[in-house]
Amino acid sequence: MRIAVARETEANEPRVAASPETVKKFKALGAEVVVARGAGNASGYPDAEYEAAGATIAEAVGGDADLILKVRRPSTGEIASYKKGAIVIAIMDPYGNEAALKAMADAGLTTFAMELMPRITRAQSMDVLSSQANLAGYRAVIDGAETYGRAMPMMMTAAGTVPAARVFIMGVGVAGLQAIATARRLGAVVTATDVRPATKEQVESLGAKFLAVEDEEFKNAQTAGGYAKEMSKEYQAKQAALVAEHIKKQDIVITTALIPGRPAPKLITAAMVASMKPGSVIIDLAVERGGNVEGAVPGQVVQVGPAKIVGHLNVPGRLAASASALYAKNLLTFIDTMIDKKEKKLAINWDDELIKATMLTRDGAVVHPNFMPKTA
Ligand code: NAD
Repeated sequence: MRIAVARETEANEPRVAASPETVKKFKALGAEVVVARGAGNASGYPDAEYEAAGATIAEAVGGDADLILKVRRPSTGEIASYKKGAIVIAIMDPYGNEAALKAMADAGLTTFAMELMPRITRAQSMDVLSSQANLAGYRAVIDGAETYGRAMPMMMTAAGTVPAARVFIMGVGVAGLQAIATARRLGAVVTATDVRPATKEQVESLGAKFLAVEDEEFKNAQTAGGYAKEMSKEYQAKQAALVAEHIKKQDIVITTALIPGRPAPKLITAAMVASMKPGSVIIDLAVERGGNVEGAVPGQVVQVGPAKIVGHLNVPGRLAASASALYAKNLLTFIDTMIDKKEKKLAINWDDELIKATMLTRDGAVVHPNFMPKTA
């Protein structure tokens, strides 16, 4: 069983798919581990630490590997360098990327998308969406506080009083909850909104105030899987009016709203941005999925009227050491389910629900029901 840890090739991807700690665990499971030279540098893991954990370091990895660990989906060039039948595990970003999935299938790779991991108790330790979103929510508040240029907590000093910053979190999933907790810890006055009614109690339990149009549609706005539904035009208009009034009084707004497999909902219009106070800051965590904020530019901080709109890409990557450590652990616990501990070799149970939910390609075909080519 040969495991390769690749060097990420995309610009703006400092994370790495294994840590020295997980390399040690793979060794204990009977694997040989090869790490691409410098793969962990941007995450604070020098080659020497991987070597000390039992890995060998190589310039190019993957050619003879049974299992290739990546953060991002492999490029065409990378795919060509892997052997037929190799298993590749990464955050595959499969929606809207059918051609890339077909290329992996055509190369005979068995590929798994970590972000499709079911959110069930057994798979909690493999949940990359949660491990990365949690860090992104934290980092969004830190970025917001830095860009804001004023203090977050109320400060009563001999020279006068600094008011507490007002922070508004839109979308209370994993990222939003961590953003609320972080902003509260910094002393801000925090409000939050979401379309899922279950979030109201969560927001309040963190000491923040909940803001939403709580009508009949809102009461049924959660799918069985716990995700948001796309709301009706009428609901969106009512909610937008409420948000428009609220936003005028906010200092920092952090948006995290996503709907699986769909573009991010637009929650903040140009008019709302224009109505904000001078010096206010908006952090759009959904910018890579189309953005929640009108005027947000992926990868840039832009001044739009009174507000700065922050559109950082790969926010978990802004905490690369923490993000890599958690991602590596997510991969380890998933791969652990694929290994026969006695024989010390790969033995995938193809009927396991975690395998079925995450497997994109196998035996030359795209096999995931959500991404299979449509037959006429
Ligand atoms: P997400 O990243 O898909 O979306 C972020 C938030 O945006 C969600 O709370 C969503 O309701 C909200 N949203 C969508 N449209 C909106 C709109 N128009 N206005 C305001 N908010 C909007 O969410 P997530 O962080 O992946 O969490 C999704 C669900 O999964 C939650 O119920 C979470 O508790 C659950 N979860 C379960 C587990 C587990 O059981 N293992 C782990 C993690 C998350």
